[in-house]
Amino acid sequence: MTQEELFKALISHAKEYGFIFPSSEIYDGLSAVYDYGQLGVELKNNIKKYWWDAMVRLNENIVGIDSAIFMHPRIWEASGHVGAFNDPLIDNKDSKKRYRADVLLEDYLAKLEEKENKEVEKGRRKFGEAFDEEQFRATNPNVLRQRNKIEAVRAKMVAALEANDLKALRDLIIECEIACPISGSKNWTDVRQFNLMFSTQLGSVSDESGTIYLRPETAQGIFVNFLNVQKTGRMKIPFGIAQIGKAFRNEIVARQFIFRMREFEQMEMQFFVRPGEEMKWYEQWKQTRLAWHKALGLGEDKYRYHDHEKLAHYANAACDIEFDFPFGFKELEGIHSRTDFDLGNHQKFSGRKIQYFDPETNESYVPYVIETSIGLDRTFLAVYSAAYCEEQLADGEQRVVLRLPAALSPVKAAVMPLVKKDGLPELAREIMRDLKFDFNCQYDEKDSIGKRYRRQDAIGTPFCITVDHQSLEDRCVTVRHRDSMNQERVPIDALRAMIADEVSFRKLFEKLG
Ligand code: ATP
Repeated sequence: MTQEELFKALISHAKEYGFIFPSSEIYDGLSAVYDYGQLGVELKNNIKKYWWDAMVRLNENIVGIDSAIFMHPRIWEASGHVGAFNDPLIDNKDSKKRYRADVLLEDYLAKLEEKENKEVEKGRRKFGEAFDEEQFRATNPNVLRQRNKIEAVRAKMVAALEANDLKALRDLIIECEIACPISGSKNWTDVRQFNLMFSTQLGSVSDESGTIYLRPETAQGIFVNFLNVQKTGRMKIPFGIAQIGKAFRNEIVARQFIFRMREFEQMEMQFFVRPGEEMKWYEQWKQTRLAWHKALGLGEDKYRYHDHEKLAHYANAACDIEFDFPFGFKELEGIHSRTDFDLGNHQKFSGRKIQYFDPETNESYVPYVIETSIGLDRTFLAVYSAAYCEEQLADGEQRVVLRLPAALSPVKAAVMPLVKKDGLPELAREIMRDLKFDFNCQYDEKDSIGKRYRRQDAIGTPFCITVDHQSLEDRCVTVRHRDSMNQERVPIDALRAMIADEVSFRKLFEKLG
């Protein structure tokens, strides 16, 4: 199966089993907006819990808030979003399709890199055991030619983006002979800036003064509550404020399923530190966040850091944690050293003093900030796509299994009477009644046991519990494990402890150290 086919299969599986539906589907959908179904919302809530508890509960110096989506419009002037939250867009005159100019160039660079890697693979095949990749990359003329080209185009792109030079961006697209993937033509408009914020009107006011924005990030709700939280929580620097919530961006190119949405959820944490100490904390948060991802066990090689080439207007260091999605490595989380830009600007724009008196140094200052910002939906996609597995079984059958980390599985156990008679459903119901106080469980008595197992595999349920005639006598049941498909007899009284041990978040948290 190609990556593209796999991605399509993932998307239709998500719909078929109630994880994710296209929004407003009976009206033919709304582009780049999705709804989470009955199982999707469970998985999403579990991811939230993993993040929230790892941040807020495990760190004495981090607290959480839940700020409103609507905020005073001046906030978005202070944050720079009104002036600079733009994407450079370009239209193809033949297909009438709109693209982000920087994304067209990034895709072009990715193709060049693919060619470069193909040359390396050719070399590997030719030289076999004796192959020295580093030396090959440093000396092979074809590889060097590609590398020089990549670096030259990248340098020009970064320079154009940094200087906000829209003409230079367009010239580069023309120079690289980039064609529209739909029409195949190179007939491009000029590059224009496009603000990504959605706006609406507050109350009955219809002029400019009533314009407010749907927040494009949750971070500003944290900054404007800095003083409230610091004072009421008696927080001492260094400390953090965390928040999970919706954010909205009028993305130009919305594609790749829930990777890029117009309405999405972020999990952000702003960590306030002493000026001058930000690099130490930046490095620490890079490590801490990567460890959080890796503890999920989706594969160590699925993650990599990517340092930003072009720093945002507020940052003095920034990197992404990228994940190997079905369409390649892409940003999953951003870690940014935001200096005192946000608090400093809110101080300026609001006229309020936003400072911290440091009892250790006897000084007042505007704290510096390290931000960790992760997309909840992208994390969902990462977990879900890494877990999805089409397996050929020994008996020639096939199964789709979601090998989700058990703590995140939407359903923890399915309880099934072997047959719908002889008192088996009654005992199964009794087990259900007990387990549901602790775990999200499903009761299923329809179809053959084999079919019921497949249904639970497809939604990632770690345990299937089957009640048979023997159970009525010995009060033991057959427990079948999702990944190994092993079966064992377990006393009914021992079920709760067995499931709890496997699905607990504790196991994940212990890996975080
Ligand atoms: P990108 O470069 O992919 O547009 P970004 O650098 O603009 O992302 P940030 O502003 O750093 O993203 O936002 C923090 C996180 O929020 C991202 O790492 C991502 O996980 C998530 N995110 C951002 N935009 C979207 C979106 N349109 N849909 C889903 N998640 C998003």
